[in-house]
Amino acid sequence: MRYAEKIFNKLSSLRLQNKIFFTYSLVFLIMFAVIFGIASLLIDRTFNAQLGKDLIELKTNISNGYVLFVESIRNEVKAKGEDKDIRNALQRAERGGGRDIPATNFDVFECGNTEGILVLSKRGDDPRIGRKDTDIANAKSDEAFKVGKDIIRERIIATGEEPQLIVEVTQWLDWGFVTGGRSLRKWLEGYMLSQPAEHPTFLVKRKVEQEEWIPLNNAARKTPTLKDKWIQQMQANQTEGEPIKELVVTLNDIQRSNETESTDAELRPSTFTVVRADILNTPFVELIIAYSHENRIQWQSQMRVILLLSIGGGAVLVYCSSYLVSRRITRPMAQLQQGVSEIGAGNLTYQIAVQSKGEVGTLADGFNQMALALKQSLEEHKAAERIAVWQDVARQLAHEVKNPLFPIRLSVENLQAAKDQPEIFEKIFDECTETIIEEVDRIRGLIDEFHQYARLPAPDRHPVNLNDVVHAVLKLYMELSQAQNIKVEKQLSPLPLLSLDQEQMERAVGNLVKNAIEAMPDGGTLTLGTFSAPFEKDRNISLEVKDTGHGMSEETQQNLFAADYTTKSYGTGLGMAIVRRIITVHGGEITVESEENIGTTIRITFNESSYLTESTPALMLLETEPTTDV
Ligand code: ADP
Ligand code: MG
Repeated sequence: MRYAEKIFNKLSSLRLQNKIFFTYSLVFLIMFAVIFGIASLLIDRTFNAQLGKDLIELKTNISNGYVLFVESIRNEVKAKGEDKDIRNALQRAERGGGRDIPATNFDVFECGNTEGILVLSKRGDDPRIGRKDTDIANAKSDEAFKVGKDIIRERIIATGEEPQLIVEVTQWLDWGFVTGGRSLRKWLEGYMLSQPAEHPTFLVKRKVEQEEWIPLNNAARKTPTLKDKWIQQMQANQTEGEPIKELVVTLNDIQRSNETESTDAELRPSTFTVVRADILNTPFVELIIAYSHENRIQWQSQMRVILLLSIGGGAVLVYCSSYLVSRRITRPMAQLQQGVSEIGAGNLTYQIAVQSKGEVGTLADGFNQMALALKQSLEEHKAAERIAVWQDVARQLAHEVKNPLFPIRLSVENLQAAKDQPEIFEKIFDECTETIIEEVDRIRGLIDEFHQYARLPAPDRHPVNLNDVVHAVLKLYMELSQAQNIKVEKQLSPLPLLSLDQEQMERAVGNLVKNAIEAMPDGGTLTLGTFSAPFEKDRNISLEVKDTGHGMSEETQQNLFAADYTTKSYGTGLGMAIVRRIITVHGGEITVESEENIGTTIRITFNESSYLTESTPALMLLETEPTTDV
């Protein structure tokens, strides 16, 4: 179960192209397995049907051939009976003359007189001349025979020392009888030449205890072990009393059927369906036909070769077609993927070039529309946000300006009241004008800061050394820091030049320094450092502003960059917002580390790549806003 899950997981993590290929291959293999199975089954069925038909045909052929064979013996015996030479030879022998028999083409030839006594004989075993054959003698008086065909008997006998089966016909004549016989084996051997040669065929001759299998064709001569195997298998399969008529036997020592090939070299297993056939109309002679499975095996191995070839060809085809198909499918996918990553990187104007139709085409179309809609809605959102920010800024500005207006108004009222009291006017005038100047300065400072925030033009980049920025800012704040008893330290490293807007960088670092000084009202240490990380890749260049001031609370850290967050009574909250905007516009990053009552470290980091490519920084609010004087 878990193993299957593993495989499934592996598969599902494959590339689409490979997935398609695997699916193709699997379907293909299953298809071929099914075809192979069906074809094998069909071959088996066809073969079995063919086997049945072939066996019947062979049996009928042999059986018919045998009838003709006996018929031919019969005709020849009849012809011999009418032959005068035979009759003369018989009479000569009866008179005591020579016993020479005129030449015949019978394997066995005998003739005798009307008494049934054998006079002439050409036979393998002992001459029985002079003996009386009672069968023949009796037949003489048999009424049924006399009206018949003059054939006394037809039989198969065994003669000779190594007994041969002879098919013999005996005919009655008015001067005696004639018997002619032919070797069954010889006839069968000749006859089998006209029959399918691949099935070993044997003639079974019964001896007293066991039977002898006489091979009738070449195939039979090549399978001398067939009989032993048959007996062995028969004994293994035999059930009580049931004589086995058919067995499938496999031999392992068959020489290749082709005789012209080397006869002793190739041995291989061969299978036969061995059948006992009782087709010669006689009870004591049987044929064994071993139906060779060679054909079927050949078909099957041929089919296997064809199948292997087609699997090979198919695999190539599958590979090519799956390659083409998967490319067709995956190319638009890759385009989609490209589109997704472009959009992800902020390039909302990106459109996929749609070539394919159908679902993928629709998908790409949808994607393009989505990108357009996204761009549109982002623009709308940006516009809305811009308006909201401006509203915020205006509200804040109004609020901040209102505060100093009150003391100004109060001072002016005081001055008016003091106009009629010359004795104190001088003093009040001084106080009030001082207050007015102070408050007007504050308003100017406020407006300055808002102005900075609102009017931040696109950076005017030039090669800048951050160390120079540090020097310039410290010069500005030297007096203030001395006044507040702050020790200033510099830790500067040699830096490569960066492509930055020097003025904006000074403003940003200046804001950081100002905050740091403001965080140390009772003195402390302000440290400015620059660093260049010595790594080949991602060479970071950074600037650090570190103070030993009061630090920031959790809440302050969270709202640090908000344009209206301040913890100071006269603060605007714009300082850090300005810093962040400047840094982001330059492609840099800010990190803050702060602990209450210990101090704060703010680090600005530039990735060198941003310098080298001078890449356009990410979209910023208000960036494209026309500069307006506040
Ligand atoms: P402002 O200085 O007008 O308050 P800023 O945006 O510059 O606005 O800062 C926001 C707030 O962040 C400050 O009010 C202060 O509480 C906190 N802050 C900024 N810098 C420091 C610092 N170096 N140490 C402690 N607090 C700081
Ligand atoms: Mg500030």
